[in-house]
Amino acid sequence: MARRPRSRASSPRRIDFHSHSYLTDGSTSPTDMWHEAKVLDHRALAVTDHLALEDPTPLLDRLRREARAWEGVGFRPLVGVELTKLPPRSIATVARASRRAGAEIVIVHGETLAEHVPPGTNRAALLSGEIDILAHPGLLSRRDAELAAANSVVLEISARRGHALGNGGVVRRALDAGAELVVDSDAHAPQELVPWAQARRIALGAGVPDRAIERVLSGTPQRILRRALER
Ligand SMILES: [Zn+2]
Ligand SMILES: [Zn+2]
Repeated sequence: MARRPRSRASSPRRIDFHSHSYLTDGSTSPTDMWHEAKVLDHRALAVTDHLALEDPTPLLDRLRREARAWEGVGFRPLVGVELTKLPPRSIATVARASRRAGAEIVIVHGETLAEHVPPGTNRAALLSGEIDILAHPGLLSRRDAELAAANSVVLEISARRGHALGNGGVVRRALDAGAELVVDSDAHAPQELVPWAQARRIALGAGVPDRAIERVLSGTPQRILRRALER
C-alpha cells in the first residue's frame, strides 16, 4: 500500500501578530500582506499599522473592510494597531479607543535600542490593561518583565533589523520572570515575512531553549489568536 503523503495540516503554521501596510509606512496593501502570508502557509497575520494620537477609526475601518474579503479561505487576517511614540500617559486611552474601533490585536512600539522612544513606554504599556504584545522592548527591566508575566502581556522577539538587537536580553528577562514570548516579523513588505523555520532559528538565536520553542512558536500564539477571535 502506498504511503499517504503527510498532510499539510499536520505541519506547524506560523501566526504573526505584527506587520505594516502602506496605510502607514509599509510598502504594500493589507490584502497583499495577507496574500503573501497565506502563500507562506501562515495560519494568521495581523496587520498592525502605526497609530499615535489620531482617531483609530478610519484605519481600523479600512483594515476590517479588506479583511472581510478573506472570510472562509483557511487563513485568518487580523486587524490591529501598533501604538507608536505617543506620550506614555496616553497609551491606555488610545488602546481602549482602538478596541472600541475594532482592533483585534493591540501592540505597543516598545523602547527599542534602534530609535528614540519616550521613556516609560514599556511600563505604561504593561500597566494599561489593554495590550496584547509589547513589541521590541529593548533593555527590558526585571520589574517590567515581572509586570508582563503578572498582567499577561506577551513580550516580542523581533525579526526586524535594529529592533532585534535587544532580543537576547528580552528572552533572558522573560524566562527569569515567567513571561510569555512570541516571534513577530514586524514586516513592512511581503518579503520580510518570516516562515516557520526562520522564526524558529530567530528564537533559538535569541536564547530560547529547545524545551520552550514549541510554546513560543505555537502555544502562546494560538492562545493570543483564540483570545482575538473571541473579541
Ligand atoms: Zn515598532
Ligand atoms: Zn512595527
